[in-house]
Amino acid sequence: MARDVNRQWLLRARPEGRIKATDFELVERDVPTAGAGEAIARLLYLSLDPTNRVWVNDAESYLPPVQIGEVMRGGGIAQVVESNTPMYAVGDLVSGLTGWQDYVRLDAGAMVQPLPKGLSVPPEVFLGVLGFTGLTAYFGLLDVGQPQAGETVVISAAAGATGSVVGQIARIKGCRAVGIAGGPEKCRWLTDELGFDAAVDYKADGWTRRLREACPNGIDVNFENVGGTMMDEVMSLMNLNGRVALCGMISGYNSDETMRGRFDVILMKRLQVRGFIVLDYLPRFAEGVTQLAQWYAEGRVKHRDTIVTGLEQAPTALNMLFDGRNFGKLLIKVADP
Ligand code: NDP
Repeated sequence: MARDVNRQWLLRARPEGRIKATDFELVERDVPTAGAGEAIARLLYLSLDPTNRVWVNDAESYLPPVQIGEVMRGGGIAQVVESNTPMYAVGDLVSGLTGWQDYVRLDAGAMVQPLPKGLSVPPEVFLGVLGFTGLTAYFGLLDVGQPQAGETVVISAAAGATGSVVGQIARIKGCRAVGIAGGPEKCRWLTDELGFDAAVDYKADGWTRRLREACPNGIDVNFENVGGTMMDEVMSLMNLNGRVALCGMISGYNSDETMRGRFDVILMKRLQVRGFIVLDYLPRFAEGVTQLAQWYAEGRVKHRDTIVTGLEQAPTALNMLFDGRNFGKLLIKVADP
């Protein structure tokens, strides 16, 4: 049902450590109306991402920090409810930076893309496996990681949105896919349902020994999502001329400590370590989505979403990513189409 107010989450304080309820404030504003050449869209799904935590730091990153008092930045899927522009018809779905709010103004500066009309898949898929996290997996593994058939690819945060897709692409490319994830249930999902060759529960005793056993020929590609001591353990097993696709370092996002790394291994094993941001691949997104959609339709890339209901849950639900309480993509369902 359409709302008669526009709820917006504003950033009120720069979080120290984990996000607290008081770092954000939920305010109610009038629903915006479309000016000339504009449209208004209502948020259906909000994507919660580890990078949301990075955006609220007053620090240099790949996007400017969200300022105190601003609507929190966030990705979402929204549906056009009013339009004064031929660019959008009422009912169209858009995907992009909608923000943490019920209604978003689509003006010339809006960072959204229309979704294809007549979708045969649920729209929220475009926030996960066919959206930014799927594209991160695709370009990060294939372009940065350069995996060759027969090689061993190790993925941290493997049961999350990005990691779960990386392992499946690695299998498609003929690699041995080894995931690291927290807990036996996640590990079973990776091996039994997604086809990973092995999964190692890093919360269990002796996980580093099990990682070694899962990689009898060493590690050729590390798709790194976590950083810190977990990355150090993976790095110590890297093979000569191995590649590290440095995607994320979630273990450090709630801390202001500097991340350190195994530069000794990088040197001795002549590793190629490359950081990347999925936005770097914007000109190639169509290629990535087309390939992912084909694998998805063929059942070769599966996905699972963890869906929390209610925009009001956004700040607390964000911490689920840091507690490992998500399988696959974490989303907030805000409204029905
Ligand atoms: P996920 O769905 O993977 O959720 C995060 C997962 O990280 C959790 O489920 C949890 O799983 C794991 N985790 C959290 N804290 C720790 C910790 N301290 N140690 C070990 N594991 C931890 O999120 P995304 O797929 O969206 O993102 C994964 C990574 O990719 C992040 O680092 C993110 O910043 C990065 N990323 C980078 C992009 C880029 O363009 N470079 C784009 C998108 C994401 P578990 O239960 O296994 O602990």
